[in-house]
Amino acid sequence: MDNCIFCKIAAKIMPSEIVYEDDTLLAFKDINPAAPVHLLVIPKQHIGTLSDCGSADAGLLAQMLLLAPKLAKEFGCALTNDANNGLTGGYRTMINTGPDGGQEVYHLHLHVIGGPRPWRGRR
Ligand code: 5GP
Ligand code: ZN
Repeated sequence: MDNCIFCKIAAKIMPSEIVYEDDTLLAFKDINPAAPVHLLVIPKQHIGTLSDCGSADAGLLAQMLLLAPKLAKEFGCALTNDANNGLTGGYRTMINTGPDGGQEVYHLHLHVIGGPRPWRGRR
């Protein structure tokens, strides 16, 4: 897609801070982070929104979701549970869809947001 920012990032025509890459996915740092860790996971192929996905995309969507805990661990916000501290860490995974979903970039992306609270404007 000629005019899609995330296609340009995937093609490396536009710079980004890439944190993960494989044949189908790319993950990079959000340019305007809402929290200490704010990553975006995208498919390299252009898909506009979650609503454009069908059963043929089930594997791709699973790959995107399953990358989140790996990235969270790498960036220090894994969910941990130990006898002394109980549950700590953790992260938010979010896909915004369409105008009422707050989607600004129409190339499917999964936000992975975490790090110590408070986050921007949130407890
Ligand atoms: P949306 O609102 O569509 O779910 O989220 C789009 C996200 O992409 C926003 O958090 C925004 O900060 C991020 N973003 C927009 N343009 C760029 C860019 O050129 N580079 C990077 N790294 N992130 C971007
Ligand atoms: Zn695109």
